[in-house]
Amino acid sequence: MDEDSCMVNIAQFFMNFICEESCGKCTPCREGTTRMNEILKNITEGKGKMSDIEELRSLAKMIQVSSLCGLGKTAPNPVLSTLQNFEEEYIEHIRDKRCHCGVCKSLAQYVITDKCIGCTRCARNCPVDAITGTPRHQHVIDTTKCIKCGTCKANCPVGAIKEG
Ligand code: SF4
Ligand code: SF4
Ligand code: SF4
Repeated sequence: MDEDSCMVNIAQFFMNFICEESCGKCTPCREGTTRMNEILKNITEGKGKMSDIEELRSLAKMIQVSSLCGLGKTAPNPVLSTLQNFEEEYIEHIRDKRCHCGVCKSLAQYVITDKCIGCTRCARNCPVDAITGTPRHQHVIDTTKCIKCGTCKANCPVGAIKEG
């Protein structure tokens, strides 16, 4: 992991794994991890609320003290450690609807930089006509129309489109 790893995405990856591995015998592990996973998924999709952070901490504590075996007792650790060390990344996802690593695709923002040579290729291929511009001039993306398909970035001949 490095600065390009999204900590919320990492926490959700581990929680998803725990949900699949939980045997379901006890309620705190079975239901608690499912609820934590739902909250994390919502945050990575830009549907999080600021109260989710305390809700995650509260669920984590409950699961740790009341689960029967080691799987449940350690299940919240990735969430707790990422919250402890990278809480600002959770806040960025919830408040700013942004994933600066560009990992959470629902939060991606495509921007055309000044490297654009105005070839018009992106505007001609955008499925929702979200790109405007005149030939040989820098083009612009209307983020309210963009459906984040990534076609423009993948086809720009000069790498002028950034995702962040
Ligand atoms: S804590 Fe252990 S016993 Fe309880 S549901 Fe999870 S895996 Fe099963
Ligand atoms: S494909 Fe790239 S260079 Fe061509 S108009 Fe779009 S952003 Fe500019
Ligand atoms: S990401 Fe897709 S929808 Fe958004 S501007 Fe680029 S081509 Fe259009």
